[in-house]
Amino acid sequence: MKSKARAVVIGGGVVGVATLYHLARKGWSDVILVERRELTSGSTWHAAGLLPLFNMSYSVGQIHKYSVRFYRELAQETGMDTGFRQVSNVRLARTKDRWDEYMYYAGVARTIGVNVVTMTAGEIKAAWPYVDVEGILGAIQHPDDGYIQPADLTQALARGARDRGAEIARNTTVTGLAQQGDGSWIVSTDQGDIACEHVVSCTGNFARRTGEMVGLDIPVIPVEHQYIVTEPHPAIQEHRADGGAELCVLRESDSSWYMREEAGGLLLGIYEKGAPCCYVDGPDATSEYELFQEDVDRLMPHIDSAIERVPCFGEVGVKKIYNGAIAYTPDGSPIIGPAWGLKNFWLNEGHSFGVTAAGGAGWQLAKWIIDGEPTIDMMGVDPRRFGPYASRGYLKQKSEEAYANVFTMHYPDEERVAARPLKMAPCYDRMAALGAVFGAVYGWERPNWFAPAGYEVPAQELDVDDTLTCHNHPPADHTGRIRERWSFRRSNYFPFLGEEVKTVHEKVGLLDMSAFAKCFVTGPGAEAWLDGMMANRIPKTIGRIRLCHMLTARGGVRSEFTICKTAPEAYYLVSAGAFERHDHDYLEKALPADGGVRLVPATADLGVLVLAGPRSRDVLQKLTDTDLSNDSFKWLTGKRISVGPAHADALRINFVGELGWELHHPIEMQNIIFDLVMDAGAEFGIKPFGIRAMDCMRLEKSYRLIPRELSIEYSAFESGLDRFVHPDKGQFLGRDALVKWRQRGDKWRFVTMEIHGVSDADARGSEAIYKGEDLVGRATSGGYGWRLGKSLALAMVKPQHAALGTELEIAILGDRYKATIIEECPFDPDNERLRA
Ligand SMILES: Cc1cc2nc3c(=O)[nH]c(=O)nc-3n(C[C@H](O)[C@H](O)[C@H](O)COP(=O)(O)OP(=O)(O)OC[C@H]3O[C@@H](n4cnc5c(N)ncnc54)[C@H](O)[C@@H]3O)c2cc1C
Repeated sequence: MKSKARAVVIGGGVVGVATLYHLARKGWSDVILVERRELTSGSTWHAAGLLPLFNMSYSVGQIHKYSVRFYRELAQETGMDTGFRQVSNVRLARTKDRWDEYMYYAGVARTIGVNVVTMTAGEIKAAWPYVDVEGILGAIQHPDDGYIQPADLTQALARGARDRGAEIARNTTVTGLAQQGDGSWIVSTDQGDIACEHVVSCTGNFARRTGEMVGLDIPVIPVEHQYIVTEPHPAIQEHRADGGAELCVLRESDSSWYMREEAGGLLLGIYEKGAPCCYVDGPDATSEYELFQEDVDRLMPHIDSAIERVPCFGEVGVKKIYNGAIAYTPDGSPIIGPAWGLKNFWLNEGHSFGVTAAGGAGWQLAKWIIDGEPTIDMMGVDPRRFGPYASRGYLKQKSEEAYANVFTMHYPDEERVAARPLKMAPCYDRMAALGAVFGAVYGWERPNWFAPAGYEVPAQELDVDDTLTCHNHPPADHTGRIRERWSFRRSNYFPFLGEEVKTVHEKVGLLDMSAFAKCFVTGPGAEAWLDGMMANRIPKTIGRIRLCHMLTARGGVRSEFTICKTAPEAYYLVSAGAFERHDHDYLEKALPADGGVRLVPATADLGVLVLAGPRSRDVLQKLTDTDLSNDSFKWLTGKRISVGPAHADALRINFVGELGWELHHPIEMQNIIFDLVMDAGAEFGIKPFGIRAMDCMRLEKSYRLIPRELSIEYSAFESGLDRFVHPDKGQFLGRDALVKWRQRGDKWRFVTMEIHGVSDADARGSEAIYKGEDLVGRATSGGYGWRLGKSLALAMVKPQHAALGTELEIAILGDRYKATIIEECPFDPDNERLRA
């Protein structure tokens, strides 16, 4: 075994070997993979081998797409049979909501280039003669996917990697990891040490054990997953003997199972409720090719439904039941990318569809390691999308929940309930008493919208469909009522958002944004350093606020910060709550080594209450002796003000486009400020409002969000950030690449669109946009603009279709609507209300 390498990959499952392969393919032949036992002896050997292209996530969808294409090429390249069978994948729909989900997904698929077609019940029967199509509304089919033999795939990847010079050390266990002063690593194994620049952790069910070696609480805990293989069925054998095609993979989403042909019989895999976590503290040191005792009782309702749907499944005996560990993260997507807080340490962990994702994950991670950046937006799988709150107790609940929800409907407004509430701002109870219906982001509870007192969804609107998984609502909340019905269309809360917007537009509203990520950047070098990190000019005057973007080295947009200069050598940075660890990790890793700049985290120390609306000045002026008049407190400035006996840094900005202040205050003073504001506002009709109303209003202002309109895939200019990006200010991160990108020519242009003729379903983001039959763009956000009375979408379209007034079409849930490109910031384009 070599003692020096550029990169050491830990773990010889399909994910580790695919990573090794792609590092070698990109030219790093001096790489080694270390596996404690035999290749595939973790989870990979017993996987059912399905390769589902279906995924609602933009990041994961692209990863799966790459894998399926690549696996086909791999067999040709290595001459090894990977057992890839392109039999296609048919997903059945029994309910109208499920069909909506498929139609929504079809938008994601079209925009990332995944082929998906619809099938009628008759077409399903023709493709799968043994299925009973009673009660089936239709299906979607992925003609390009199917299944593969995971162990053969891994061996082919290993061959491809070795052919490019990579080494694989089997029966070698990593026992320690030590970072050196220069950022390189010493990987200790039971066979000796390896010095390397980069370490990639691909340790499957051992992820948390590996994390312990470097002080990382990796948010992965596996769950038990079972599938059943039957004896051969004479009818299937006969069908094949007569030259019949192999059956496609069948998924009955509404009963939470998948089925495929296996050696003349059938394989049935089930995602049931109640499957327990396993290996919570990691597998045993001796664990190898390990299975658990099967638990058929848990599967029975699904087995019954499978027999009803495919009667021949019940006509043959069971050959074997596999019960193995499958790694899960709290949201069910893998974690692929840099570890937080450590340089040159990479994670490719938490894969629950690891056979499907391995190729794409290895491909993007190799780019990230070698080129410094992936080429697709990886926010959906970035390890830093979870924070320190995602510890053992939380993970146990969330992993089981993620598993149980693999086949449930992924409504856009779905808010899962496990491990909640976890992080609560002090005003949580007050908001709850005012009717808040909460959602969770990064562990924080935030009001999504407000229900009238005593409101609940009428019983006849709940779970109208007879399926095993289709709950169209969360359970009753702290009020004992079910107040929200989820939908891909305008749902029960839609009119209440209208009321909230009306209050903010005509009177004054209060929003809790305490979840914002916050930090201070201080020190003698702070200004120069921030200037080199951000594309906008850094505020030079104390109290001045600027919106600043941190770009990638290629000129895409990585992060967005509101920056306020608070003292001669101090800046306050605010960014999206969901990206706290992501944003701060990038900043921290880029801090100068000389200690001249410090980053002081402040998220948990400061609460944020947003007061917005034309009467917000009247309300706040009652509580402070600071002159709030326009002359002395201008838009885009901030000041420390007293609020009764408390104080806050009042920033005259907001995300809704009305007069207003964000009150950033010591978190322990939140409730006194809350009460004072609500009391003072009573005479002006103040009401609380939630994130969803804010989202409607930001669409009318064409305000962009990461990772939607702003992404590493689009240049800052393509995203229309010209006002905030100043290549003439001197060097900054990504500047030269951005200028070259523009010279090469933009591929996309950010636009705002009005959608015509919509009656009950607005765009949500990810819808395909057409000119005639040509796909010319994708919606990145969408919803209803209450102040304009228009259905709106923000979108990225090809530049030749971006002119004002261009008529295009957008597909929403399978129907085409006319859409016109309208002026950016259609509500109050001159910002008169913000400046008032
Ligand atoms: C029943 C079942 C069915 C499944 N079906 C499918 C399917 O149809 N399609 C699909 O895409 N996915 C499926 N999966 C999931 C799939 O099996 C996993 O996502 C995938 O195998 C994960 O691969 P991996 O390389 O991340 O982990 P593993 O295969 O577990 O590999 C991790 C490796 O790391 C090694 N390792 C750990 N620590 C160390 C150390 N300190 N030193 C050296 N080596 C170390 C381990 O020995 C192990 O070999 C299924 C899972 C189960 C349980």
